Amino acid sequence: MPLDAFTVHSHCADLGGVARTHELAAAGVDPYSLRLAVRDGVLVRLREGVYATAETSEAVRAAVRHGGVLGCLSRVAAAGLWILVEPAAVHVAMPRTGRRRGHDGCDCVVHWAPAVGRGGTASLVDALAQVLGCRGEEEFFVALESAMRKRLVRRGALARLRARIPAGRRWLVDFARWDADSGLESLLRLRLRPNGIALASQVEIPGVGRVDFVLGDRLILEVDGKPNHIGPSKRHKDLVRDVVAAAHGFDSLRFDYALVGHDWPIVEAAILAKVERGLHLDRRVAGRPR
Ligand SMILES: [Zn+2]
Ligand SMILES: [Zn+2]
Repeated sequence: MPLDAFTVHSHCADLGGVARTHELAAAGVDPYSLRLAVRDGVLVRLREGVYATAETSEAVRAAVRHGGVLGCLSRVAAAGLWILVEPAAVHVAMPRTGRRRGHDGCDCVVHWAPAVGRGGTASLVDALAQVLGCRGEEEFFVALESAMRKRLVRRGALARLRARIPAGRRWLVDFARWDADSGLESLLRLRLRPNGIALASQVEIPGVGRVDFVLGDRLILEVDGKPNHIGPSKRHKDLVRDVVAAAHGFDSLRFDYALVGHDWPIVEAAILAKVERGLHLDRRVAGRPR
């Protein structure tokens, strides 16, 4: 009696969604049942001897067809982590013993890895280490804090990651926090680090409401450009917030995502000009009306 398609599918799903014929055989899936499952559309054959559940993403399919697994920024994006620049191509982690296989529409970015994970995706630790080498410190740090925030990495994984990356960049792991609220916060904290400026996010200020960031004691930094910020009354509301904040002894700077992303030097200069004048520090208790 062949296995029904549902059973074959669940065996493949248990193996991570992508499995080799011998792994499926070890789970009790005989070749005939496998063929039926492919015919019924619950499994797809990605390449010789490798099968995937029908819901496997196009990115994972491409990585496996290429001869590897989903890695680097593509793996990070698939996990729903914060990223600064979306990957335009599929990033593939290839085992050193592997060989590239031709497939339709291949523009894959390849990372050679000592070993690759099961189920068609690299481990998150491997993927994060690949991001550091591929996209640099900022993309790595933002993804790392996102993984920590979602508790997709634990202390053991962090220690493995720290050991994996070059010694000169391990401070990035030490500097990362478990409670970042957004990728923007991670990016700002990383960029402001050389200046030694403390940054708090999502701060509730009496009379003003919740602001994006407070630098030091009393310099409010608001970053516009989020979809829910757009509206005809936005300008007036912003002015009210700034005026009320000023009345409470705060100083405000307002930027948008494009400025932070593409014109950081001018944003940094504006912040530092305030900081140099001590406008981010206050001897009075911040937030108390005069
Ligand atoms: Zn490819
Ligand atoms: Zn990459």
